[in-house]
Amino acid sequence: MILETRHFIIPIFIPDLGCPNQCVFCNQKKITGQVNIPTAEEVAKKIGDYLATLPDVENRKVEVAFYGGSFTAIPVDEQRKFLRAAWDYYRTGKIQGIRISTRPDKIDEDTLSILMAYGVDTIELGVQSMDKDVLAFARRGHATEHVVKAAKLVKSWGFFLGVQIMIGLPGDSQEKALKTCNEVIDLSPDFVRIYPVLVLKGTELERLFRQGKYSPWQVNEVVDTAKKMLNRFERAGIEVIRIGLQNTEEISPGGEIIAGPYHPAIGELVYGALIYEQLRELLNRAGAVPGGIKEVEFAVSPRDESKARGHKSTNIKALQEHYGLKTVKIIPDPELVPGTIKLTRLDEEEKDVVLRRKDLIL
Ligand code: SF4
Repeated sequence: MILETRHFIIPIFIPDLGCPNQCVFCNQKKITGQVNIPTAEEVAKKIGDYLATLPDVENRKVEVAFYGGSFTAIPVDEQRKFLRAAWDYYRTGKIQGIRISTRPDKIDEDTLSILMAYGVDTIELGVQSMDKDVLAFARRGHATEHVVKAAKLVKSWGFFLGVQIMIGLPGDSQEKALKTCNEVIDLSPDFVRIYPVLVLKGTELERLFRQGKYSPWQVNEVVDTAKKMLNRFERAGIEVIRIGLQNTEEISPGGEIIAGPYHPAIGELVYGALIYEQLRELLNRAGAVPGGIKEVEFAVSPRDESKARGHKSTNIKALQEHYGLKTVKIIPDPELVPGTIKLTRLDEEEKDVVLRRKDLIL
């Protein structure tokens, strides 16, 4: 499925509401920056307020998203109250979709029938890992089987399926993360979010970290793992819509982060690292060897230009260092579709070597 690009999400955060247990990494109140649980009236008002300020609303797909808790674990009456608040806007055509996020063990036929009746079209499952030990260490309180069953059910009812994955939980490794990635691909989600684990204040993970029982991953480990996951998802035609938590006052240095691979542009680092592999592969295919060339020129889609250069031009610097290059030029070419890069020149020689990102295998 191709997600509409001109869509807008109205986020409604319902921290911890419905969670039957406390996962070690989670402190939804900190992640969402919101402590109070809204009433149905407040939800309705918030949607109305957003709609009143949204520019170009007629030409957008506007969705309401209930994030931050385990929506389907809330008592059914509560679920209905929240959904009704959104439904009033849905049935009058003011919003075009409703999405919820929840735990895989809180999905069944009855639940899905309620969600469908109120216009929910997208369900995001907090999967985090497909490894049973990682799930247990994280105190998720559900098994891998719940994920497989829930994903199949969600798809069979015709909902769009989103999957959230975490990397760097206690007991996780790159090998396990990539296995999780493969198993998530088998679930055929419509989109995925990847969250590197951060140690947040007030979580069990903070306690484990302070006791020396948990070591967070480094930024470079996260980037290397997420790069490989991104490559697999892209090859499978599954969109990765987010890498890393949204930067907020809380999710920033000096905020609620105790430790972990925080970087304000982590997604950019991951895309940059993947494109670096693509640039290297193009040079390899053209027969370039370290020390044998001085100048190189690539053409990229304008949308890929900054990612191709890398965060703070890291890709350019790394290519210069590895190949002994004097000049690396990245030229935007509107004729190229995003994801495709063309090697156009090596020293004085014109080249025409093209590689689509999804044909790269890491
Ligand atoms: S189920 Fe989700 S919201 Fe609830 S504690 Fe775990 S991660 Fe947090």
